[in-house]
Amino acid sequence: MDRKHSQHLYNEACEHIVGGVNSPSRSFKGVGGGVPVFMEKGNGAYLYDVDGSTYIDYLGAYGPIITGHAHPHITQVVTRAAENGVLYGTPTVLENRFAKMLKEAIPSLEKVRFVNSGTEAVMTTIRVARAYTGRTKIVKFSGSYHGHSDLVLVAAGSGPATLGSPDSAGVTENTAEEVITVPFNDTQALQDVLDKWGDDIAAVLVEPIVGNFGIVEPAEGFLEQVNEAAHDTGALVIYDEVITAFRFTYGGAQDIYGVKPDMTAMGKIIGGGLPIGAYGGRVDIMENVAPLGPAYQAGTMSGNPVSISAGIACLEVLGQDGVYEHLDHLGKRLEDGLSHIIKEHSIPAVINRRCGALTLFFTDRKVTDYDGADESDGELFKTFFHLMLDQGINLAPSKYEAWFLTTAHTEADIDQTIEAARHAFSQIEKNRQ
Ligand code: PMP
Repeated sequence: MDRKHSQHLYNEACEHIVGGVNSPSRSFKGVGGGVPVFMEKGNGAYLYDVDGSTYIDYLGAYGPIITGHAHPHITQVVTRAAENGVLYGTPTVLENRFAKMLKEAIPSLEKVRFVNSGTEAVMTTIRVARAYTGRTKIVKFSGSYHGHSDLVLVAAGSGPATLGSPDSAGVTENTAEEVITVPFNDTQALQDVLDKWGDDIAAVLVEPIVGNFGIVEPAEGFLEQVNEAAHDTGALVIYDEVITAFRFTYGGAQDIYGVKPDMTAMGKIIGGGLPIGAYGGRVDIMENVAPLGPAYQAGTMSGNPVSISAGIACLEVLGQDGVYEHLDHLGKRLEDGLSHIIKEHSIPAVINRRCGALTLFFTDRKVTDYDGADESDGELFKTFFHLMLDQGINLAPSKYEAWFLTTAHTEADIDQTIEAARHAFSQIEKNRQ
């Protein structure tokens, strides 16, 4: 595939934009380097690059795009909103409407607040949990990504039940000492940490279904145990549903399992592709937020009419009959096709899927935690990624990411993708001989 124009634009980008990209996940560093493809148009399940190639898109902009690119209803609503002025700095009726829609879909959201990104939403839930509990530390799970605020850019410490260490330059040791990281699906490790630090822990932060080291579901009873253990020590439970809200059902992952967190952070899909974040939860906790309470959180762009309109329009589409059944049907077709290919070849690979999101891991062990995902063979993924890209299949350039289906994908798209994967697997196998 010709990438002349992408190459040229990337060279230019590198002169002006640090690393040539505005988010490190967009660089091809994780797949052996190279030129990220510059896209210029999206429509339905497809992206079109600057060199005239078409791609079936499974990146979904890292999650927000679930109704396909340029969905006509969202586009129309956003255009109309923009014509009415993009920002007033005053409350609007749209915010009320959207807050009600979210509360109806996710009942644990007794009160909500709109912000501008998932990062802001998670960051603020932590502040509010600290304000409410008067405690400082948080517990999170290894491999989960919760945005780029300091407190969540902290890696596990050097042993079990130890304080964290900075996961980014610029995050201080003092900050890292406020965070303890335990393996996902490991209730004993969580209990050990709570036994040791319980009185200091403000909140346990968890993705109810992990979306950041592939799609990894909670073991049976895990979420109930997280709630029980946290609440026993007086800590709150925060769900990071930035990826999962409205991904698998019209609601949160919490609604699938019937387990209620104290607070929830959201983003991505709820903005229909425009910048957004939201957090919410129990009313007695949320009343700690300014102007009612002492925990400060503000935002010039928060609740802006264009993002909120896009969010409303997206939820209107997702609320239609059969949407999640369709995503599940396509997801299953893709999983079955890929599983078949795995069986036909000698390349170790397993698939985790929920509804229209799946991850192909290059390992033969079922993936239930970050260590399992980490075992996925990065070299195999790199080769697979480039072979797929060259056949017009756009995946995230990371072995940890999910493939996201949209309502715009068709069975024909799925079948074309399966054929591309078959070719990629055969090619990899041939290269190994
Ligand atoms: N939490 C989770 C689970 C995420 O996946 C992400 C983004 N990938 C974030 C938080 C941060 O969201 P944003 O990029 O909108 O700041």
